[in-house]
Amino acid sequence: MDPVEVAAAPEAGPGPAWQSKCPWGAPNTTSISCSLADVMSEQLAKELQLEEENAAFPEVVAVAEGPFITGENIDTSSDLMLAQMLQMEFDREYDAQLRREEKKINGDSKVSISFENYRKVHPYDSDSSEDEVDWQDTRHDPYRADKPTTTPRRGFTGKGKDITTKHDEVVCGRKNTARMENFAPEFQVGDGIGMDLKLSNQVFNALKQHAYSEERRSARLHEKKEHSTAEKAVDPKTRLLLYKMVSAGMLETITGCISTGKESVVFHAYGGISETEDKVIPPECAIKVFKTTLNEFKNRDKYIKDDYRFKDRFSKLNPRKVIRMWAEKEMHNLTRMQNAGIPCPQVVILKKHVLVMSFIGQDQVPAPKLKDVTLSSEDMKTAYYQVFNMMQQLYKECNLVHADLSEYNMLWHDGKVWLIDVSQSVEPTHPHGLEFLFRDCRNVSQFFQKGGVAEALNERELFNAVSGLNITADNEVDFQEEIEALEKMNEDHVQNHGKKLSMFSSDGDPPIYDE
Ligand code: ADP
Ligand code: MN
Repeated sequence: MDPVEVAAAPEAGPGPAWQSKCPWGAPNTTSISCSLADVMSEQLAKELQLEEENAAFPEVVAVAEGPFITGENIDTSSDLMLAQMLQMEFDREYDAQLRREEKKINGDSKVSISFENYRKVHPYDSDSSEDEVDWQDTRHDPYRADKPTTTPRRGFTGKGKDITTKHDEVVCGRKNTARMENFAPEFQVGDGIGMDLKLSNQVFNALKQHAYSEERRSARLHEKKEHSTAEKAVDPKTRLLLYKMVSAGMLETITGCISTGKESVVFHAYGGISETEDKVIPPECAIKVFKTTLNEFKNRDKYIKDDYRFKDRFSKLNPRKVIRMWAEKEMHNLTRMQNAGIPCPQVVILKKHVLVMSFIGQDQVPAPKLKDVTLSSEDMKTAYYQVFNMMQQLYKECNLVHADLSEYNMLWHDGKVWLIDVSQSVEPTHPHGLEFLFRDCRNVSQFFQKGGVAEALNERELFNAVSGLNITADNEVDFQEEIEALEKMNEDHVQNHGKKLSMFSSDGDPPIYDE
């Protein structure tokens, strides 16, 4: 109840004459006579209380369900969520301060004390300032991981006196160290993997046990966190990132989710105004959020690990950074495609694991995937030739293989095909690049052949036409074998000469684009 009003009440308005005379105020003339039964009635008690409460807290006008993050209409429906976000910011600031104090106290002293135990943010969740720094591109990485050596089936290597068995302490120790790579990505194993570290079985087993229990604990925590957010799809940290984009005015409104995949969530947003004048933000944007909590990404290691562009950085990075690398990869690949004039989303901005690009579609409705659209035979034929040309351009001009090309990752918009989802794309010289290309060719060829395009080349013809190679095998198995042999030849060549075979590109180097 408004206290001012209560205090003001006695003076307010002219009342009956006796009211001003009587020092004890007005007798309650409106008193309701009620029976004992009424007084004791729980029902009545509840009703009265409700009435009182309603007077004290007038009902909040319900806001129509709208976009979930906008500049003016900040979603405050989840107080818990907001509190968590603020707390997280606070905790991080606290930790940063702690770090400064730690540094001040320790100075150059050889003996240092650590405040580690007083930190607020769990190391699994810490996005420390060091993390804020973008990639440090270290060409000469002293910790570069070598492939762990394996013992052959027979259980030993070497000859005569130099035999080492699989029980050898040093070999075993090294192998244990290499195995740490299989731990959950959140589990920080430090630089041990890259160094010549030998872990005894006992230590390794203890670590493994710990990694598993931490993984389970972290999964439980994340589960809780994810359930607590209104939009289920993103964790609080990502939400904060998105919120910042909106409050900076770069995005006007994030309207909702277009797709939830295993590795990413895609949102639709209306574009806002760019901070820099030279950049125009498209009226509609797609926001691809790469999930940071999933182990799924481990399975995709092979795409990025062997990509020489990322090779030097891979071994030393923490898992969060590796996931950001997917977003970074998608950005670079889209830029290359854009420069070659291939229809694809245009990159707007990359922030950590969140990539904002132009939206393919209109009025919040995404363009349909090729698999979901029924095209006239004329359009189908046009689409085929377009895809064929794009594959060639991608290979020759962008020096890329899509590596997940199918009717699921091609959108039909404005009477043409648009390519999306290129985070896993690799250069043709990637150790498995040609296999990926062959798989792409198979998908494309099968889709258009089934779709009734009589002119569609079969997968082998398509492969040769796109790559410019001339593999003559007339059946799939032999063809595949030849592809693998080529890849192996290239790998050996790289090992021995430090560069790729000339068959892949005329000048031996990938084209450099101004990215
Ligand atoms: P995933 O790795 O989850 O397959 P994609 O990049 O393929 O990620 O995106 C998933 C879905 O989101 C796509 O199938 C498409 O429907 C939609 N999508 C992604 N990017 C865009 C975009 N720029 N414009 C419109 N829709 C998009
Ligand atoms: Mn996809």
